[in-house]
Amino acid sequence: MDSLDEIARQVRRCTDCPLHAGRNHAVPGEGHPNARLMFIGEGPGREEDRQGRPFVGPAGHLLDELLASIGAHRSGVYIANMVKCRPPNNRDPAPDEIQACSKYLDRQIELLNPQLIVTLGRFSLGKFFPGEGVTRARGQPRHKDGRLIFPMLHPAAALRRSEHRGVMFQDFQTIAELLNRPPQPASAAAETPEAAAPPPPQMGMFGEPAATPPTPQAAEPPAAEPPTPDPRQLAMF
Ligand code: URA
Ligand code: SF4
Repeated sequence: MDSLDEIARQVRRCTDCPLHAGRNHAVPGEGHPNARLMFIGEGPGREEDRQGRPFVGPAGHLLDELLASIGAHRSGVYIANMVKCRPPNNRDPAPDEIQACSKYLDRQIELLNPQLIVTLGRFSLGKFFPGEGVTRARGQPRHKDGRLIFPMLHPAAALRRSEHRGVMFQDFQTIAELLNRPPQPASAAAETPEAAAPPPPQMGMFGEPAATPPTPQAAEPPAAEPPTPDPRQLAMF
């Protein structure tokens, strides 16, 4: 499997676990092939199975809102799932199903080589940190096998319990900070929670001033035009 498209083709004809029997559409994953930011969810729900696309139901709408809150869009990131076919009645994916499907996700991660992987919910957290609880682990970036992992709640959890919404928007601010930071050599980092992120740099991610600009004085010449956002940054969050 030498490209994301090739993985998608293989996923669509895959019969390697029982989930293939109930699917309408496999959901291989989608996004920018050079994305720096990758999300891993659990598995397709009803709407995803209908469309063959990840996170296009209610949880997906919240994910879109969260992305927008940091000036990102799904077209500039990559979104995948632990299992590519919908478990019947949205039941939890079984360990043998996750195992059978992991070859696709592993290869997606390898090909993308993202700067940051965000796990959504306990199943994708378990891929990197088996047995850990998502409520404790969320919001703490950690290194695992040379990759930077940022565990988050699943957006569906915030739809069930609105008090989780704020936490998710907060965690997205951390994502923005992590991506604004120069990549650290993974070998230098211990596999433990990182120190708190440094304060944001002077300029925001897309070149806009991070702080509130001073109020222009009547006598002063008009302020210079803000620099135009770099479209590549927007495209490849
Ligand atoms: N929930 C997931 O975990 N993945 C999707 O693609 C949609 C909802
Ligand atoms: Fe194949 Fe994964 Fe679908 Fe199972 S869930 S049939 S392993 S693509």
